[in-house]
Amino acid sequence: MLFLQISKHTSESCPMHNQNAAKSEKNFNAKIGEFLKKYQIKVVGSWVSIPEHLKVTVYDAANMEALTKLSMEPEVMDWLGYQTTEIKPVITIEESIKLVLK
Ligand SMILES: [Zn+2]
Repeated sequence: MLFLQISKHTSESCPMHNQNAAKSEKNFNAKIGEFLKKYQIKVVGSWVSIPEHLKVTVYDAANMEALTKLSMEPEVMDWLGYQTTEIKPVITIEESIKLVLK
């Protein structure tokens, strides 16, 4: 299943200006590969809009539980501490077109 994650932080909590957020971002980036492997989650793509302090990531995971477990890892929880994040289950346009034509 595909999941779209939209994460935002304020300019005050931006890792480019805030030392605590920068440390958290570093720790998150150092461990995320290991956690993705542990929960068998693939990153389909990830993009950042620097002026909007916005990060968009598409994950391919077996279910929401895998992402919930990922979010409970200490380095991820710390990273989430300075973000507001929403996760939405999504399907591809091709899949949605097939549903419409049924
Ligand atoms: Zn930022």
